[in-house]
Amino acid sequence: MNFFYYQIAIPLPIKGTFTYKSKVFLKNGSRAQVSFRNKKVMGVVIKQIKKIPEYKVKEIVETFQENLAFESNEFECLIWASKYYHHPIGDVFSTFMPKLLKDNKKSLETSSSLDKNKHTYEINLENKPSKLTKQQHSAINNLKTADFNINLINGVTGSGKTEIYLDLTEKKIKEGKSILILVPEINLTPQLYKIFSDRFDGSVGLYHSKQTPLQRFNVWKGAKSGEIRIVIGTRSAIMNPLKNLGLIIIDEEHDQSFKQTEGFKFSARELGIKRAQKIDIPIIFGSATPSLSLLKLVSQNKANEVKLTKRVDGQDPPKLVIMDINNQELNSGISNESFNAIEATLSKGKQVLVFINRRGFAPLLECLACGWNAECNSCESSLVYHKVRDRLVCHRCESAYGKPVYCPNCGSDKLELFGLGTEQVEEHLAENFSGVEIIRIDHDSTRKKGAIDNIYKKLEDGAPSILVGTQMLTKGHDFNNVSLTLVLNADNGLISPEINALEKVSQLLIQVSGRAGRKDKDAKVIIQTRYPNDKTLNQLKQGSYSAFSEKMLLEHENLNLPPYSCASILRATSPTQNSNLNFLNKVKNLLINKKNITSIGPLPSFVAKSKGSYKHSLYIQTNSRVYLNKVLNHLDQEIEKINEAKKVKWSFDIDPVEYS
Ligand code: ADP
Ligand code: ZN
Ligand code: ZN
Repeated sequence: MNFFYYQIAIPLPIKGTFTYKSKVFLKNGSRAQVSFRNKKVMGVVIKQIKKIPEYKVKEIVETFQENLAFESNEFECLIWASKYYHHPIGDVFSTFMPKLLKDNKKSLETSSSLDKNKHTYEINLENKPSKLTKQQHSAINNLKTADFNINLINGVTGSGKTEIYLDLTEKKIKEGKSILILVPEINLTPQLYKIFSDRFDGSVGLYHSKQTPLQRFNVWKGAKSGEIRIVIGTRSAIMNPLKNLGLIIIDEEHDQSFKQTEGFKFSARELGIKRAQKIDIPIIFGSATPSLSLLKLVSQNKANEVKLTKRVDGQDPPKLVIMDINNQELNSGISNESFNAIEATLSKGKQVLVFINRRGFAPLLECLACGWNAECNSCESSLVYHKVRDRLVCHRCESAYGKPVYCPNCGSDKLELFGLGTEQVEEHLAENFSGVEIIRIDHDSTRKKGAIDNIYKKLEDGAPSILVGTQMLTKGHDFNNVSLTLVLNADNGLISPEINALEKVSQLLIQVSGRAGRKDKDAKVIIQTRYPNDKTLNQLKQGSYSAFSEKMLLEHENLNLPPYSCASILRATSPTQNSNLNFLNKVKNLLINKKNITSIGPLPSFVAKSKGSYKHSLYIQTNSRVYLNKVLNHLDQEIEKINEAKKVKWSFDIDPVEYS
């Protein structure tokens, strides 16, 4: 019997591929069910091996005579990703294969029942503006959309970026192509889905992690067969196998959510660029606060930037007021002056938005007698009191505990809550503004299906109300009748030592202010701060994000920080701190004689212990991508030989967005 031999990627986070044989010929990128450690798993064919191995090779359990799971472009992209991110190849492929295919519950047979009507995507003119603004026009003319180009639409909030996406989609649809659109948050998909479904008479696919496996499979397969030609999704959709893909759009490009921080730590931005490059199609990034990494590409002429400086409605962005709270009395975090501003806004029939960066009621429960404070049993993280549930909740692992009446350490009853969360602000405002609707938007209040839609509906009727919320508020949705925005605690971002902290906090402040005052020229944003002279705050106040980002970019260049250098973090996790430290120190020693390498650490993570394990990291930085890759490859091999590596779980995080 003649066999073909193949390297198979196994859907587990294990380095390398495994050899299996088959009686039938298999193409790269096809599925192959194999037995691995006595379990049946769905692998992917990576490569045929011409030389027959000398060791005993198992036969593939089941092969599939169907369409490829990964077409050659997608396949090559993921091979690249595995190398770029130094991540196990099987896990990379597994990340992008629908569960039902992995579980062998569905197949990829060619479907013949194509519904022709769904193909045409007639344009529905009802919601289409009669004409584009001058800036939209010139933006569209200046975008490079014929072949591979990285484009940035740098446009203030409300400048009509979505309309540009619709226009480009229309053009690509007419050329017979399909379009992939990514947003950072699941919460933003319904809004965009509606806009695209209203405009295009044909099926628009949604793809994100809160869908059922069947929904995901159907969209995946529909897109692959060409039945669905517009797909809207979050970062996991970046490899959606749309047939004839002609354009990738990544909206709110600056958002850190495009980077996965657990498991396969890819960035949908990077993967998107790679994919566009492989098929020679344009990719378009949109943002009011572009990331430094894209702005750097623009400055090097590697990306094409178009600017939209005006809102469609001609309104100027709201005024930013920096409020010094050092000598002010605060009630639930709100100064008297801010309180009066809320009152005045409501009495004019307008809505107020209060931004606070923490959910729950109070982030700390402390004993005044002995200093004990409530911490999670499996994470070194303070428990946050949630009044609605009457529980202490760990924001790391979501474990919930009862709130003790007496201190578990000394028995005293002097237990007190400290700090501020959304629930407390909500309660305080409800007590003081009876009759006004207070709406909280955070992870807790939006958990239920449809909750966020209900909230948006409530707000659309425009009645005076106060919205209290976390970062969720800053993402994509517009609140037309909001005329005052109050930012309660941006200070942490201003003083954080993380490399990208200032970038993050500036984007956040601009985004949160951009959400408001769409129809109001008196709209303003109050930022309460203990650092009224802070350089960043004052730059933002004086005008645009551009002025700030240009300076920031220059600073990063001078200090040789990312995106001007290439960063990676070696992360180690284990039940004991020493195992992590021994391992990372050993690796650090391997780097000591290498040229042009900066390594910092080992450092404990911001939350050193999480879900029962300690986390430590070693920061590794160098000047060129190629060199970093080479060094990490070297480390990959050397780590295999280190005994200390056996006691820890470790992984590389390339282009990290979280540094600690
Ligand atoms: P952005 O995505 O840049 O924040 P949007 O695309 O949401 O801005 O546009 C803001 C508002 O302006 C939307 O309500 C949109 O329907 C409207 N709009 C966009 N372009 C035009 C246009 N050319 N004429 C009239 N209204 C427009
Ligand atoms: Zn005590
Ligand atoms: Zn925990």
